[in-house]
Amino acid sequence: MHGAVFNQLVLTVRIQPETPLLIKSGGDASILEPVLADMQFVRIHRNGQEEPFLPGSSVRGPLRSHAERLVRTVKAEQACSPVATGGQGVSSIPSSCARNVGRNADPAVAYQRSCYTCRLFGNTVIASRVRFSDFFADPERPVLLQYRTSVAIDRVLGTSMNPFDMEVASDGAFVGTITLRNFTLGQLGLLGAALLDLNDGIIALGFGKSRGLGRVRLTFNGRLRLLGPRAVQFSAGDLPGVELLADHNTRARYFPHLSGKATPSESRTLKVPFSLDRTGLGVEASLEHDQVVQLFELAAPLWVEEVGRRAG
Ligand SMILES: [Zn+2]
Repeated sequence: MHGAVFNQLVLTVRIQPETPLLIKSGGDASILEPVLADMQFVRIHRNGQEEPFLPGSSVRGPLRSHAERLVRTVKAEQACSPVATGGQGVSSIPSSCARNVGRNADPAVAYQRSCYTCRLFGNTVIASRVRFSDFFADPERPVLLQYRTSVAIDRVLGTSMNPFDMEVASDGAFVGTITLRNFTLGQLGLLGAALLDLNDGIIALGFGKSRGLGRVRLTFNGRLRLLGPRAVQFSAGDLPGVELLADHNTRARYFPHLSGKATPSESRTLKVPFSLDRTGLGVEASLEHDQVVQLFELAAPLWVEEVGRRAG
């Protein structure tokens, strides 16, 4: 489906630490024995100098994990686990979709056979609908890095081990983009729900989440576009999902249960509190922070419907 764009939401996202934030150089994995070298904030060489940044994967990873948890509460088999073996205790969670689908499957078939979470975030067989850029320091709100001393607790004995220093971002802002393309309203809702939970501190970024680190505040700006010949039918605050915008062929391949119907009764549009204006290519709207939050709140319940509706 990625040969054509039917709808697209480009979010410019500003991430500000609410509690000290540490994205470690060399990865986000939690470790038992912290080493000073591992506790430095990740940096990138940019504009002639080294500066702290948030790799896109450091934002994407926690959002995906949280989306998987949300989906599992409704239908466990719609969030696969790349590490599940299908064995003891986790039999309702399928192992990796990518392994089950097979590498040579037709993209539309691979999409249909993948779980709901993979359909949004992708796997090694199907492309992701959502892309995360890296997040760079906002020149208007420089990132303040400080060293904090922390103490590791021995997990077995409960005694304290050597104190260690962590380099954390305690102020400033990082800016990047999240692009969602060819999405159903439920996929918009699931991504939105995860982002709102991140903004509410229900999930956090980086190292030391259990110590209260990594809570962030998000500010959004959005640019929403509907493209293609069907887009102009939706101009009055009525937001369709990709299945209503796609051409006949795409709909037949990716949404076979909806094909053959001019306006599929299972599909719906979302009444949104802003208007989409006609442009040369389709219709579009620029959204302020509050409008993006409203859009997420309106769309959030729809992933539950989509996950519940999906057979098998
Ligand atoms: Zn999957």
